Amino acid sequence: MKDIVPSPSAIVRNDHESVRELFTKNVVPSYGRFEIVLSHGDGSYVFDVAGKRYLDLGGGIAVNCLGHAHPAITGALVEQSKKLIHVSNLYFTEPQGRLAAEIVKRIGAGKVFFSNSGAEANEGLFKLARKFGHDEGRFEILTATNSFHGRTMAGIAATGQDKVKKGFEPIMPGFRHIPFNDLEAARNAISPATVAIMIEGVQGEGGVTPATPEYLLGLRALCDEKKLLLLMDGVQCGHYRTGRFQSFQRILEGENPQSAIRNPQSDFLPDGLSMAKSLGGGFPIGAFWVRAPFADLLGPGTHASTFGGTPLACAVALKIFEVIENEKLDENARKLGGRIQSELERLANNYPTVVKSARGLGFMIGLELVEKIPAFASSDKSVAIQFVNRLHAAGVMTIPAGTQVIRLLPPLNLKPQEAAEGISKIEEIIKSLV
Ligand SMILES: *Cc1c(COP(=O)(O)O)cnc(C)c1O
Repeated sequence: MKDIVPSPSAIVRNDHESVRELFTKNVVPSYGRFEIVLSHGDGSYVFDVAGKRYLDLGGGIAVNCLGHAHPAITGALVEQSKKLIHVSNLYFTEPQGRLAAEIVKRIGAGKVFFSNSGAEANEGLFKLARKFGHDEGRFEILTATNSFHGRTMAGIAATGQDKVKKGFEPIMPGFRHIPFNDLEAARNAISPATVAIMIEGVQGEGGVTPATPEYLLGLRALCDEKKLLLLMDGVQCGHYRTGRFQSFQRILEGENPQSAIRNPQSDFLPDGLSMAKSLGGGFPIGAFWVRAPFADLLGPGTHASTFGGTPLACAVALKIFEVIENEKLDENARKLGGRIQSELERLANNYPTVVKSARGLGFMIGLELVEKIPAFASSDKSVAIQFVNRLHAAGVMTIPAGTQVIRLLPPLNLKPQEAAEGISKIEEIIKSLV
């Protein structure tokens, strides 16, 4: 068969500098980027334009749940694109209906709206909350300190970190922040205008901090008592990353993993939940689920997205569900993630002058470094960035969170020997800093 893939144009072939120049001249410099120009990937590995191989433990920030160039995703893209890529939401398509059903099945009775990103999924939940409280004049949404909810205008208002708001004032009104995992603070913060509380089940950008079971259950009771919507941002911690479809299912299963596993109708459910990142495994798609009593609040004409839930995006997301289920990748995230975390805890114990702690759930793992590492003192870059740079040199990708935390958000199909390779490289870097 004739090779129909054209060879890459000369300008990108093995040429770091020419790509960098294209960016300097033409791309808005809103991202702090690492000095790496990537070319292609295969499973848990990516390659830069010079052919250097990296073990990708960042997973495109919790997006590439099946790794890179997975044949099932390629297959779904090719097959669906031969039928329909996009039609307007003026019409029905089977993939969108089936994907909504798959999501509902995994959470509980409710309905789903499709968007293209996490920020947009959260925007939908904010609109849902405003609609819910509108006739009573309630509109205010409480979110947590150190939370992250996206970079749109409402997203930065909701995000509990000053750095995303700076320079974009006036900030959209209607959001206030409360300390995370502090139930009393939540109760005390509620005003007559409050309509909802939104939290991440595991804070991601904030440094990998899981909500406690008591906090989740307490917020549920508080929201019921005060007639508030309990909204959860599952954009990063969702999609089996913690070992269960949604983080609250993992957090609340307690001592007995079997108890809640096949019981989507367990006592706890949020009223709304946003998804994106791993949902499309790299193909852009976001969604929010809304619990049954509120599922018809956003009626015809109240909310829309041109690209929301295209047949192509939904076909990919359906295929990903199938692969995760067939290959039991939820169990892989739970078990291998647990092993990685205990290895990192060992490193924290053995090298207390470099590592402060390790924490997380499943394949959402944070390694907290100490505030001051002498070997890093000469640079004004954060210890997190400098550590990530050293790991890059050693051929491992991780994601910084805040100034002191390294995040591991690997593909759900990470192999044990890949995990071992990552841990041993991390240990090498730590040893070089002692
Ligand atoms: C990444 C992220 C978002 C924003 O998603 P985008 O697709 O970048 O808009 C929102 N919330 C959380 C928790 C995230 O991690």
